[in-house]
Amino acid sequence: MKKGMTVTYEVDTGLYINLTNRCTNRCEFCIRNNDDGAYGSDTLWLEREPTAEQVIESVFSRDLSRYSEIVFCGYGEPTCRLDVLLEVARAVKERDKNIKIRLNTNGHSNLINGAPTEHLFAGLVDVMSISLNTPNAERYVDMCHPVYKEKAFSALLDFTRNVKNYVQKTTLSVVRQYLTEQELAECERIAAELGVTLKVRDYISA
Ligand code: SF4
Repeated sequence: MKKGMTVTYEVDTGLYINLTNRCTNRCEFCIRNNDDGAYGSDTLWLEREPTAEQVIESVFSRDLSRYSEIVFCGYGEPTCRLDVLLEVARAVKERDKNIKIRLNTNGHSNLINGAPTEHLFAGLVDVMSISLNTPNAERYVDMCHPVYKEKAFSALLDFTRNVKNYVQKTTLSVVRQYLTEQELAECERIAAELGVTLKVRDYISA
């Protein structure tokens, strides 16, 4: 496995930020299973986690007018480094509050950080994209192997229900190839009940 210090990288029109390789899941479909590379970068495995200053420097070394959004994503779960995430987002918004910021998350933030965290994203994150993955806790444990076991699923639902009050847009996402039609319909029902959009995405193999 090749390691490097790819702190920011481009995907389509977005600028992506790689804060950590840690995650509280081990999903069957995770791009980390590809060993070295994804999204055209072969060094998303970090030699060490970047400091907030290093991330801010990397972000501001780019021409931000070229990007439609800034995305906290990974090779890992960004809320494992919530303080750094918030500090970087704050710096970006102070520079230009119109720059759109998205967080791709597994929704475990409250478990990871041991307290409610939804309110902390207000004014800093515009779009919250939470991986739902499955329609129930049992399937979630089977597919995502969370360290928090069954309670991870209810925690991500609670996080979704609460965080939508603090950000402009909240979506739940699933990977089409890992669900039956019936499971997909159940996920749609969950999203509708929570009052958020369901995004059905395709598996990324590299
Ligand atoms: S939550 Fe995301 S980073 Fe973590 S194992 Fe699943 S796909 Fe990978």
